[in-house]
Amino acid sequence: MFGHGNSRTRLKTDRELSRRVRDVVPDRIFNALLERPDSDCTDQCLCHNVTRKRVAELVKQFSDGTTAKTNAVYVLECQMKSVTQKIVREELRLQNNVSWIYDAQEHERLIYVGVSTAVPSRLRKHALGNGSGANFTQMFPPIRLLSIQWFEREVDAYRAEEITADILREVTHDGIYVSQPG
Ligand SMILES: [Zn+2]
Repeated sequence: MFGHGNSRTRLKTDRELSRRVRDVVPDRIFNALLERPDSDCTDQCLCHNVTRKRVAELVKQFSDGTTAKTNAVYVLECQMKSVTQKIVREELRLQNNVSWIYDAQEHERLIYVGVSTAVPSRLRKHALGNGSGANFTQMFPPIRLLSIQWFEREVDAYRAEEITADILREVTHDGIYVSQPG
């Protein structure tokens, strides 16, 4: 990825990625969160009728028409549920308690930031919640796709995932929980 002598390049890349994220993503998230998640279940939701065709249509809304649609950073709103540590350990087959469950449940709305090189199938895995998605979305299933940004290079997408989560944590209010990437 980045060599040790490349910190200046890395800083420059981070600045460019931050600007790209800041220009687009906070507005999308703010606008989407103005609506209650159940108010537009028919066309935007990821909780019903999650066929390949529908997911492809959702993804297409974020196509910019120019970039290769491979390396994507995506943002989901997830469903708040009351889950206990016991349920979490059973469902995720964990030995120990996880702290993010408590953190998340202290908020009103849940945001998940992810990265993928094959975003339609990744979104379906999150939505189907059969253990092939992510721990966070298995406990708090996705209800809406809020944003996708595309990146030329895979390494940039992975960095942009972290940057996106940081920026959303910084600009959203206290009632919104942003999941930890990775
Ligand atoms: Zn729905």
